[in-house]
Amino acid sequence: MYDENNIFAKILNSEIQCDKVYEDKDVLFFNDINPVSKIHVLGIPKVKCVNFSDFVKKTNKESVFNFFTKVEMVINLLGISENGYRIITNSGKDGGQEVPHFHIHILGGEKIGPKIR
Ligand code: AMP
Repeated sequence: MYDENNIFAKILNSEIQCDKVYEDKDVLFFNDINPVSKIHVLGIPKVKCVNFSDFVKKTNKESVFNFFTKVEMVINLLGISENGYRIITNSGKDGGQEVPHFHIHILGGEKIGPKIR
């Protein structure tokens, strides 16, 4: 069940602000408020989905492809393609998910340790 009051829903509704990196009609990318690496950007689709599985089930191939194409585009925008990066999505209790709106963490700008996020 999607929580309409989660913090990313509030960012999408412009109820609270974010440090925007990229936005279009389908997606929003912004800097994490509590970065764990030099570059730590979060990417979210503008659909009400709790986690990765919910996103895949609720949308279609085109939306999933579009979202991950945008993730790749933002990685290029951040200039971290060459040196490398880590993308992560946490889901549920065991995955350590804090915010129940599907999001991808993009980590980079330095060597990322073995267990981060
Ligand atoms: P997760 O544990 O995968 O749900 O990650 C949630 C992430 O959201 C954490 O890295 C938080 O630091 C980040 N976060 C929480 N609130 C905000 C906010 N208002 N703006 C930007 N990032 C946030």
